[in-house]
Amino acid sequence: MPVLVMKFGGTSVATTDRIRRAAKRVGVEVAKGYDVIVIVSAMSGETNKLVGLVGETSPLYDAREYDAVVSSGENVTAGLMALTLQEMDVPARSWQGWQVPVKTTSAHSAARIEDIPPDNITAKFAEGMRVAVVAGFQGISPEGRITTLGRGGSDTTAVAFAAAFDAERCDIYTDVDGVYTTDPRICDKARRLDRIAFEEMLELASLGAKVLQTRSVELAMRYNVKLRVLSSFEEQSDDAGTLVCAEEEIMESNVVNGIAYSRDEAKMTLISVADRPGIAAAIFGPLSEAGVNVDMIVQNISEEGRTDMTFSCPTDQVLRAEKALQEAKERGDINYHDLVADTNVAKVSAVGIGMRSQSGVAARMFRTLSDEGVNIKVIATSEIKISVLIDRKYMELAVQALHDAFELDKSA
Ligand code: ADP
Ligand code: ASP
Ligand code: MG
Repeated sequence: MPVLVMKFGGTSVATTDRIRRAAKRVGVEVAKGYDVIVIVSAMSGETNKLVGLVGETSPLYDAREYDAVVSSGENVTAGLMALTLQEMDVPARSWQGWQVPVKTTSAHSAARIEDIPPDNITAKFAEGMRVAVVAGFQGISPEGRITTLGRGGSDTTAVAFAAAFDAERCDIYTDVDGVYTTDPRICDKARRLDRIAFEEMLELASLGAKVLQTRSVELAMRYNVKLRVLSSFEEQSDDAGTLVCAEEEIMESNVVNGIAYSRDEAKMTLISVADRPGIAAAIFGPLSEAGVNVDMIVQNISEEGRTDMTFSCPTDQVLRAEKALQEAKERGDINYHDLVADTNVAKVSAVGIGMRSQSGVAARMFRTLSDEGVNIKVIATSEIKISVLIDRKYMELAVQALHDAFELDKSA
């Protein structure tokens, strides 16, 4: 029988009532003749609570134990979903990541899925089970330890299962009815897109649009998974929501198709480091080893052989970054006068594949921000995106102003 993957995010399984509503959706697909793999997130708020408990216990925690704790929210919803389906007389059982097994790397808290052998679940389908409910976000490392895939990782679990089982489609049920031109929660004029290209979705996700985890889009693109985002709160037709698909499948497109933001950015500046060959490697090597995700980098002009080096990273990695740089300084690998962390910044980005062939997007973006009196602290560009780091208090204003400036409320 054809396989369908259905993923339900945290708000869609936040209460037993909502789990029942989601289970009914699953029942509809089972009745159509699909064998269904349901991927569940933890109940909304649950993972944050678990992350908080780990932080209270151990600020620079052992990542293996972090994973053991934060993966547990999904175990609860997987069991509850299986029970709910059984109550509806749908043959179902739950699977934790290690039982499938979802084999991952050992990069705890940011593990990558390497392989999902389908045999165990396929055998159960052959015996008459109609729904495999799998705990999202988690897997098992080669060392046999529980891993997690990074925040929002259940999306990636879902796409990886769709690829491994050659599913007809991967439906991501969430609390909005599709992918919008920007987060509809901070911009009233945000418009739902019927389709969005993999490349654009990839950029939007990596720049902060949390509707899909970046890695899930990467996998969908690589394995050509038919990926759809839709609401778990509304009755759904077969063409509801947003289809994430190849560029060629989209007829019309604006130059800019989306504005993304990331609230949790920090700007770190190393004051007065020696401007010599190898200095960047001496700074960013230890940061990478410490697991700090450095994003934007600026090296200021140097004076008398010294320079300032600025970079951005997620706010929750500031402690790690400071520790790694302090240690490098103590070893004598780098020398700096001061390390200043500004945790009151946010990143706002404009994304569109049309930028490849149209110039003037950066100019329009900078002009718009300047008209609003927003100062730009750092700029980064790539072929299809422009990002700026600004004071966090202007973030929503900037998103709304850019949405207006690029006329994203109107379709192409
Ligand atoms: P889930 O718990 O279902 O995984 P998430 O909270 O991770 O849901 O993702 C859905 C949220 O993503 C929405 O509620 C919305 O606020 C946010 N979001 C950010 N950018 C966008 C966008 N461009 N389109 C749709 N939603 C977006
Ligand atoms: N529960 C995890 C999180 O909140 C994974 C997910 O929901 O996708 O990040
Ligand atoms: Mg999510």
